[in-house]
Amino acid sequence: ENIIIAVDGPAGAGKSTIAKIIAKRLNINYIDTGAMYRAVTLKCLQNNVDVKDENAVIEMAKKTSIDFRDNNIYLDSKIVNDEIRTLEVSKNVSDVAKIKEVRYLMVDLQREIGKNNAVILDGRDIGSYVFPNADYKFFLVATPEERGKRRYIELKEKGYDGTLEDIINDIIRRDEIDSNREFAPLVKAEGAIEIDTTGKDIDQVVDLVLQKIK
Ligand code: C5P
Repeated sequence: ENIIIAVDGPAGAGKSTIAKIIAKRLNINYIDTGAMYRAVTLKCLQNNVDVKDENAVIEMAKKTSIDFRDNNIYLDSKIVNDEIRTLEVSKNVSDVAKIKEVRYLMVDLQREIGKNNAVILDGRDIGSYVFPNADYKFFLVATPEERGKRRYIELKEKGYDGTLEDIINDIIRRDEIDSNREFAPLVKAEGAIEIDTTGKDIDQVVDLVLQKIK
């Protein structure tokens, strides 16, 4: 049947890692909604669109096609799995994601996918706004230091040569913009189960989530 699982929380709390594993275990689809906002941001950067220019970003977003297939994210038919993960995209994405019209476009896509598919989605507003009637809602948190370290390790593997401090600062700044935007901000949804992943390994968090679902 059409089960919907929402996984929200601040940047680097472990949402995508956990959601991917849960999707496999339950044999359902996984949608990384942050990847959608990142893809629009990447397109703006590639086309020299200033992310502070809301109208220009909206026009860009309207002309953008985003697709998930076989664990790949497609931006206008091109795989952009790695390109959307750079710190440059991270530093700009929250300004794109706070634009209401951009969110409408992404949320439509997300709801469309959830209409006919059993799916676990990770993001910021999945339990609160996109699927308020989700079957299960989780809210993952961790200290900024721990979240920064996780991102640092991921980015290092992809050739990042900046500092940990830069990443922690980006995470804190993004959380602030995401939490304070007017439309569909980052918030713990009503009825969401909060899990603090600080000091827990992946298996422990997966077990905690699965316990609630079964
Ligand atoms: O999850 P990730 O860190 O890749 O998300 C990147 C950014 O996309 C977030 O910082 C936030 O600004 C935006 N986002 C959002 N709503 C979602 C998912 C992500 O606003 N559902």
